[in-house]
Amino acid sequence: MYGLSSEDLAIQARARGFADELIPFEEQAEASGGELPADVTAGHAKRARELGLHSTNMPAELGGGGCTTLQQVLVQEQMGRVTNALGWVAATPPSWLPEVANADQIERYVRPAISGEREECYAITEEGAGSDVDAIEATAQRAGDTYVLNGVKWHVTSYNTADFAFFQARLRGGPHDGEHAMFLVDLPGPGIRVVRTPAYTHTISHHHPIVAFENVRVPAANLVGAEGDGMAFAYEWFRFERLMVAARCLGAAGRLTEEITAFAASRRAGGGPISDHGLVAGMLADSLTELFAARALAYETARGIDCGTDTKVSHAQCSMAKLYCSEMAGRVADRAVQVFGGRGYMRENVAERFYRELRVERIWEGTSEIQRLIIARQMIKRGPARLA
Ligand SMILES: Cc1cc2nc3c(=O)[nH]c(=O)nc-3n(C[C@H](O)[C@H](O)[C@H](O)COP(=O)(O)OP(=O)(O)OC[C@H]3O[C@@H](n4cnc5c(N)ncnc54)[C@H](O)[C@@H]3O)c2cc1C
Repeated sequence: MYGLSSEDLAIQARARGFADELIPFEEQAEASGGELPADVTAGHAKRARELGLHSTNMPAELGGGGCTTLQQVLVQEQMGRVTNALGWVAATPPSWLPEVANADQIERYVRPAISGEREECYAITEEGAGSDVDAIEATAQRAGDTYVLNGVKWHVTSYNTADFAFFQARLRGGPHDGEHAMFLVDLPGPGIRVVRTPAYTHTISHHHPIVAFENVRVPAANLVGAEGDGMAFAYEWFRFERLMVAARCLGAAGRLTEEITAFAASRRAGGGPISDHGLVAGMLADSLTELFAARALAYETARGIDCGTDTKVSHAQCSMAKLYCSEMAGRVADRAVQVFGGRGYMRENVAERFYRELRVERIWEGTSEIQRLIIARQMIKRGPARLA
């Protein structure tokens, strides 16, 4: 890719080197339910921080990387090359929080999240509210200098490793009755219990339990921003995370493309390498072509954000990047399994793992259908020419 500065190339190279250190642990993680020994995981987390790959999205004045959006994409792209979520040690804490957090929240949550001492999880989705976040039924009621929280949250990713949660609820009573608000909730805590921990398609150490919050009292100071602000934070987070999903999908597709190219050149069938067979060659060529297009889209979106593109425009562009990169990676993984043949169906094979793992990229942080709706609505409002 053209136009990368020496700083961009340096952080990209550090991230690639780190991904190469993590890759040898993938099969061990796959064989043990996603878990590596605690000291190994702690070592990976420490290394990510030492290499400046942790909190790349957080302000430098608070101890974060202060990286450009493009640099964040370059790092997450490399982390996406690794299966079993081993790259999640290069964590990106909530970048929207420092601007709205009060001084106490900065000290208790933001700085420790940046230094890696604390970790967050998001309790937003409910049984009846996923794509339609506005349909949440969880409640928050003011009681003196506390709020009382109630609700059952689904798919709470990293609940088993996190020590605080963002809990989104609908206010009951008061001037903002019925509006959304976001709270910081320390974990574990009285009234918070895991209902169950379902098994998911991927094999990673971060679980996604259903968690009940029953009359959980949090100090009023744990309200993030103001009453009624809850949805605004969710949108800001979606913009960032959708672009990072796109970046990790680029990494996955990049790794798979490298792996199938090497395999197709060495695997012989019918008297020569399988890459000589037109049908296999077509799968290689389509994969790289789509990856190139996807990378150009994601990098251009990131560059636009760094140059101050209008937020509404970048909102649509982040949706385009997430939509296209996640669907592209799914197609590449499917072809990769096919190119590997029977080997591609073995869990020890990277194509098999990515084939399962990449499926969720079309679901979380807004499904492909929701991304299409966002893009189409922006086209009607602003005109296609402003968006692409
Ligand atoms: C592994 C995993 C981890 C997750 N982690 C978290 C987390 O940490 N915190 C959290 O809060 N949530 C989390 N989620 C939830 C995730 O964000 C939702 O699953 C996602 O937004 C979709 O919501 P849903 O599952 O309720 O599906 P639904 O909203 O019920 O959608 C079902 C289907 O209907 C389609 N659909 C819905 N509405 C429309 C529409 N208006 N137009 C067209 N089609 C539509 C969808 O695209 C989908 O195909 C996670 C999910 C998974 C699978």
